[in-house]
Amino acid sequence: MSDQNNSGYEEICSICRRPESVAGKLVRMPMNMYICPQCMDKMSDMIDAQMGGMNGAGAIDWSKVMNMYNPANFQMDPNMFQQSMSNEETEQEKKEADPAEGEKDLKKTEDPEKKEEGKEESKKPGNGIPKVSFVNLADLPFDFGFGGRQKVKKKEKGEHKPLIELKDIPAPHKIKAMLDEYVVGQEKAKKIMSVAVYNHYKRIATNTMDEIEIEKSNMLMLGPTGCGKTFLVQTLARILNVPLAITDATSLTEAGYIGDDIESVVSKLLAAAGNDVDKAEQGIIYIDEIDKIAKKQNTNSRDVSGESVQQGMLKLLEGADIEVPIGASSKNAMVPTTTVNTRNILFICGGAFPGIEEIIKNRLNKSGGIGFHAELSDKNDQNKKIMQKVETEDIRKFGMIPEFVGRLPMICTLEGLDQEMMVRILKEPKNAILKQYQKLLELDEVKLLFADDALELIAEKAIKKETGARALRSILDEYMVDIMYEIPKDDNIGTVTITRDYLEGKGAPEIVVRGAE
Ligand code: ADP
Repeated sequence: MSDQNNSGYEEICSICRRPESVAGKLVRMPMNMYICPQCMDKMSDMIDAQMGGMNGAGAIDWSKVMNMYNPANFQMDPNMFQQSMSNEETEQEKKEADPAEGEKDLKKTEDPEKKEEGKEESKKPGNGIPKVSFVNLADLPFDFGFGGRQKVKKKEKGEHKPLIELKDIPAPHKIKAMLDEYVVGQEKAKKIMSVAVYNHYKRIATNTMDEIEIEKSNMLMLGPTGCGKTFLVQTLARILNVPLAITDATSLTEAGYIGDDIESVVSKLLAAAGNDVDKAEQGIIYIDEIDKIAKKQNTNSRDVSGESVQQGMLKLLEGADIEVPIGASSKNAMVPTTTVNTRNILFICGGAFPGIEEIIKNRLNKSGGIGFHAELSDKNDQNKKIMQKVETEDIRKFGMIPEFVGRLPMICTLEGLDQEMMVRILKEPKNAILKQYQKLLELDEVKLLFADDALELIAEKAIKKETGARALRSILDEYMVDIMYEIPKDDNIGTVTITRDYLEGKGAPEIVVRGAE
């Protein structure tokens, strides 16, 4: 009988990989293996079938008995065995076909004397002992209990345990203040997000609010690449201390096609929650590049990575019981599964939605009309913050199906980063890149300063790269290599100021000697 430990994790059948709560009471075998009643029956049936011929019929066909352990009989991936077998076979075949070849192999490892001995040995009678190879138990498709990695935490029935107690949920202004410490700008997005998250966890903590069922506040974030969409969600999850899974929508395909199944996003969250289903059910899933699963226009082939993925995600977004593989991205006979309810999982989708500005402009111009409103349309053309005016209608026109957009009630837009914001990102956040370099040199008792125009130059260069704030780090890293190499050489250096001239290759950094500051 499998012993339940106090951690609340349950054992898994070593053959069919189902947890005890699904497969029934497991029988503990030697070597920490567990077998469920069904697999036990199957094994004894197979043994009976193979041994049937024994009654008076003479010898047992051991090859058949051994064949019972063929992975195919357990609906397992036969490649796992085939691979190691074929390696051995080819070695054997090679030697049989060309004995010289086999000897060559021996030569490589043994000195000639030993080789002679070996030849003698092999001539001795009774040396036909089957070749014994050592098997790494961890490579076998059975769980011998050494890993323990794939245990699933048992769900506690009946009791609803919120991850964050009602009294511990920070008020929206507090959530925003914490986000401010890390994320520069994006004021509106931070506000919308703080309110959405606050409501979401309040909804979970109270389970229901009187008779009114509060709707889920899944979110859609629009904004160019590198403007902080992922960073915002990461920071949020860290502040709230809830599990977070980040996935790329481009890798998702309809079940059965090459790519990750849609449900794999939930299985990632389960992994992030340490296989604790209760925790995972209150986590956050961020799906990046959601615009890449827009309906494909003018296509005759089946749209397995576009509209079908949107369709497949509907039930996930709304809340459903999803059977998810544990520790893998797709379901198969080898992988244990568990059920996760997505009702309380907060889904945040993000994407750049390139070209949506045109759709917004067209809508605004259309409603503006002609003649008298012509001036207005010009204004719209000039409006750099046109993205802020996005509505669900525009997102639908872009290629997202209405049911999908309908399940993401909160929409917020993040601005593209300008030079001023880039400079602020360099120096303001709690873990700003400049602060990191300053800290490193501080350990050498050297003060590192940056001239304002030097930071502007770095920001300008980053904007040209068009990858948002992501470019800042690589640009700065490149400039700093020499500084970080040279400074520790000289113990007299007290302060180093990086100037624009230095970055442009026109001069050296300003250095103040220790004691002269
Ligand atoms: P995307 O919008 O493409 O998801 P990310 O959130 O991944 O972009 O941003 C890339 C990196 O740039 C982040 O890891 C973060 O360090 C930095 N970054 C981007 N935007 C901001 C911001 N507004 N404030 C602070 N850092 C930012």
